[in-house]
Amino acid sequence: MTELLKQAFDAEKFRENGHFLVDLLADYMKETAAGNSNRPVLPYNAPDKVYADWQAFYSDGISSDIKLFYKKILDDSIHLHNPKYMGHQVPPALPTAALTEFMSAFMNNATGVYEMGSAGIAIERLVISVLSDALGFDKNAEGVLTSGGTLGNLTALLAARRSKVPYDAWTEGHKNGYRPVVLVSEEAHYSIDRAVKVMGWGDDGIEKIPTGSDYKLDLNELKKTYTKSIEAGKHVIAVVGNACSTSLGLYDPLEAVADFCEEHDLWFHVDAAHGGPAAFSKKYNHLIKGMERADSAIVDFHKLLMIPSLVTAVVFKEGGKSYDTFSQKAAYLWESRESGDWSNLGKRTFECTKNLMSLKVFSIINSYGTEIFGETVTAVYNLGKVFAELISARSGFELAAEPESNIICFRFNPNRTTATEADELNRAIRKSMIEKGKFFIVQTLIRNKVYLRTSLMNPYTSAEDLNLLLDEIEITAGKIK
Ligand SMILES: *Cc1c(COP(=O)(O)O)cnc(C)c1O
Repeated sequence: MTELLKQAFDAEKFRENGHFLVDLLADYMKETAAGNSNRPVLPYNAPDKVYADWQAFYSDGISSDIKLFYKKILDDSIHLHNPKYMGHQVPPALPTAALTEFMSAFMNNATGVYEMGSAGIAIERLVISVLSDALGFDKNAEGVLTSGGTLGNLTALLAARRSKVPYDAWTEGHKNGYRPVVLVSEEAHYSIDRAVKVMGWGDDGIEKIPTGSDYKLDLNELKKTYTKSIEAGKHVIAVVGNACSTSLGLYDPLEAVADFCEEHDLWFHVDAAHGGPAAFSKKYNHLIKGMERADSAIVDFHKLLMIPSLVTAVVFKEGGKSYDTFSQKAAYLWESRESGDWSNLGKRTFECTKNLMSLKVFSIINSYGTEIFGETVTAVYNLGKVFAELISARSGFELAAEPESNIICFRFNPNRTTATEADELNRAIRKSMIEKGKFFIVQTLIRNKVYLRTSLMNPYTSAEDLNLLLDEIEITAGKIK
């Protein structure tokens, strides 16, 4: 081993840096969670400035002291443990899960093939069974963990194709005259569209169902879209339900969609990337009623459940379907295609080498029970309702829809101006707030109108923080005029 490699593998240096890093992060967590004003939630700088900074850091020369690097990362990053972080659907990571991720990284057991990740693979099966029980599936359910909801939706829709297209599309490719199509509400996440495009079905392969005034999938429109597709000579194979939708956080009527799918022999997939964890909350699990009748569902652990990204579960009601997704043969990797072979995960996931992602989920359910998931969902969904009340009580603010989850969209429109003026005002508010960095919220377009959007992902956020946010929006708007 060369001198350089000996240094890089030095166990004592590892120990020293590790202790330093944990101390640094523990202090950081205390400081950010307390919302200290010396660390505003977002230390905003323009991309070119940040790039130039890091170039300068690099050109300072190679440094054996990793500590400066760690500190600089903290200084240049958005702080998710800060109570005023209310933006995207990314949570503050649970410390135990983050530590376990560190262990996974070090062990580097890549879980495609059983011997390469025996503990993680057994634990993955356990994690899937805990989740699928909570979602209401029976013992036949099975599934896998994969790298994100986007890949999860693709994995599920590949299984839908396998199950409903009357020939082997995996090996035979396209057949002239057969035009598969997936139906989904216009509020669906764009990853559904991408999955369809990846399968090569083009624009033709997805029909967006118009939503009603409540922004949810409308059953009459579903029926119309179905009939229209059939009349156009297409083959409807699946309907996707949102639980919940991304931009407004609203749940589609899953039971009604399940009835429809049964009646027409369609694959029913539920995109529960964000809102599936409602399953763990006694108060809110009614929102996912009907999920247990889905053929497949995905749930992100790295959103509401506070596990560091990425961990997504893809669950199949009939576990066997999980083996049909990828029928690509690579015999040297797998002993037998027929052996039911749950332990060779590479057969059922898009990934070949896969991060040992089950450990971080298990570290939480083993330390705190799934109660921690239920409590979190209940708390942030309750907070969503409180925020909606605060918004409705203030003049000048408009709520986009009554929230069902922790995602709330609203806008400030004190003078009831024209639509364009209101759009401009809210865009300007959001821009100014990003630059100031005191609060982090995002914006979205709803039926072509600009709205401010918050995802209350953070157990540290209180009603008082939300009141301060509304104050800050009023102050910011006052300066824009
Ligand atoms: C976030 C989200 C996705 C995408 O999941 P990633 O893990 O970000 O790839 C898909 N669908 C819905 C409804 C989502 O909210």
